Amino acid sequence: MQAVAQQIPCSQNPEMQSAVAVQVPPGGFFPQLVLTQKFRFLHDEIEAGISACREQCEFFLLCGGGCPSNKLAEHGTFRATATAHCELTRRVVAEVVLANLELALASAT
Ligand code: SF4
Repeated sequence: MQAVAQQIPCSQNPEMQSAVAVQVPPGGFFPQLVLTQKFRFLHDEIEAGISACREQCEFFLLCGGGCPSNKLAEHGTFRATATAHCELTRRVVAEVVLANLELALASAT
């Protein structure tokens, strides 16, 4: 169960906390993570968005598929790809770094 939870990027999003129930079984010591139907639905929707990013975005290896909460807030669905958030925090940064690397390489030769 832990491996499934780790596949979700930006899992610190507080608005998704209610999708997972943590229970301590009777007589048990360690809490167990219970994946609810809501969690499974959200997981599948988020995975679809990550797959779309993987297929469409040249920055996927750098980004990993973005933050689900931003996709939901900006597009109303987890299945979206590019957001203003990823544009400003990943794409622009990557493009600036790459441009500067190219300049540095060109001036070194
Ligand atoms: S940069 Fe944006 S479009 Fe590209 S993988 Fe990340 S979230 Fe998806």
